[in-house]
Amino acid sequence: MHDPAAEFLADVRAFARTHVERDAAAWARGETLDPAVTFHAAGIGLTRMEVPVASGGLGLGFRTKVEACAIIAAVDFGLAMSLVNTHNVAKRIAMTASETVASRLLPDLVSGRASACTALTEPSAGSDVSAMRCTARPTDGGWILEGEKTWIVNARHARLSIVYAQTGEHGDGAGIAAFLVDLTNPCCERYPIESGFSQTSIGTGGFWLNRYFAPNEHAVLPAGTAFKAILSEINGARIYVAAMCCAMVSAGLRLACAHGETRQSFGKPLDQHPTWREPLARCATHLAAAWALVEAAIVATENGADTRHLAAAAKVNAVSLAQVQLPAMLHAMGAEGLKEAYPVTRHIGASQIAALTDGSTAMLLDRLARWNPTPISL
Ligand SMILES: Cc1cc2nc3c(=O)[nH]c(=O)nc-3n(C[C@H](O)[C@H](O)[C@H](O)COP(=O)(O)OP(=O)(O)OC[C@H]3O[C@@H](n4cnc5c(N)ncnc54)[C@H](O)[C@@H]3O)c2cc1C
Repeated sequence: MHDPAAEFLADVRAFARTHVERDAAAWARGETLDPAVTFHAAGIGLTRMEVPVASGGLGLGFRTKVEACAIIAAVDFGLAMSLVNTHNVAKRIAMTASETVASRLLPDLVSGRASACTALTEPSAGSDVSAMRCTARPTDGGWILEGEKTWIVNARHARLSIVYAQTGEHGDGAGIAAFLVDLTNPCCERYPIESGFSQTSIGTGGFWLNRYFAPNEHAVLPAGTAFKAILSEINGARIYVAAMCCAMVSAGLRLACAHGETRQSFGKPLDQHPTWREPLARCATHLAAAWALVEAAIVATENGADTRHLAAAAKVNAVSLAQVQLPAMLHAMGAEGLKEAYPVTRHIGASQIAALTDGSTAMLLDRLARWNPTPISL
C-alpha cells in the first residue's frame, strides 16, 4: 500500500547514507557545503515535510518530521538542524503569511534555492529572551527594525529570517512581534560564527539590522501573540532535538557494538569481555528509556495534549544521555573511535550545542522542578 511517510523516510535514509555520510567529516574540518547536498535534501522534501500540500508541501505529520531529523542527525546533527530550521520558516509562512507573500517566498525555500532562519538570540539576550534589544518601530506602511541577532542556525547563508523584535518597552514579553526579513537587503550585515566544534553544516552566524524596513505584510506574528507562538513552537523543537540526541547515541552504540565484535584483545574479541560489555549495556538501557520519553512526547503532540513538561523532560534527558554516553562509546572503541571516519567525536560537540538550542538544560530544569510525572495514583 502507498505510504507517503514511509517512502519519504526511505529517501531520507538513502540521503543520509550517501550525501551526508560522504561529506560530514569535511564539514567538521570547516569545508563548505556543496549546494547539491541542499538541493538533494529539498528535492526529497526535507524543507517541506509539514508544509500543507496546498502550499506545495508534503503535508506529512510531526512524527515523520521527528524521524527524518533523527535519521540525518545520526550522521550529522548540524545539517539536520539547518534543514529543519529552513523547513520551520517555510511552514510558518504557509500558515500565517498572506497568499501573495507566501507565493513569492515559499517556492525558493521548498526547492532548496534559499535557506531560512529564526532569530531570537542577541548578544545580551540568550536564555532571557524577553530582554531582547532589537526594536521594531511603526512607520508609514510598515516597521523599522534595528538591532543585532547572534548565534543563529543558517544565519551565515539564509536569504530569509523570521526576526523577533520588541515593539514596546524593553523587557515586555507581550511587546515582542515577529517579522519576515530579507537578509540580502543592504540594511542587513551578516557574519559567520565559528567555534572549536565546526559550525559549518549548521550554518551558524549573526546579523545586524540597520534601519531595515519591513512592510506591514511581513509582520507575520503581531505583538501579544508572537511570544506565545514561539513558546509553543519550541516545544516541538525540543522533541525533535531530543530524538536527534537519541539518534546520535544510537549511532555511537551501534559502532561500538560492531567494533567489539571484531577487535581482538587478550586473545578474544572485545565483546567477549564482560567488563567491556557493561558500559554498552548501560548505554542501551538509558537509550531505551530516552527513546520511550521521546515517543511519549510525540504521542502527546499527536493527541493535541499539553506537551510543555514532556517535551522539556525528553530534551533534558536525551541531551544528558548524549553528553554522558557518547564519550563512553568513544572510549569503548579505543583510539579507533577518534578517526574522522566515525561520527562519535562530532556528536560529542553536537550534544553540547543541543544543550543550548531551543531552551538550555538549566532553563528547562527550572520548569521541570515543578512537574510530577507519576502516572498512577499512589
Ligand atoms: C550552535 C547554536 C545555534 C543556535 N541557533 C539559534 C537560533 O537559530 N535562533 C536563536 O534565536 N538562538 C539560537 N541559539 C542560541 C541559543 O538559544 C542560546 O545559546 C541559549 O538560549 C542560551 O543563551 P546563551 O548562550 O546566551 O547563554 P546565557 O543565557 O548567557 O546562559 C549561560 C548559561 O547559564 C545558564 N543560565 C542562564 N540563566 C540562568 C538562570 N536563571 N538560572 C540558572 N542557569 C541559568 C544557561 O542555561 C547557560 O548554561 C543557538 C545557539 C547555538 C550554540
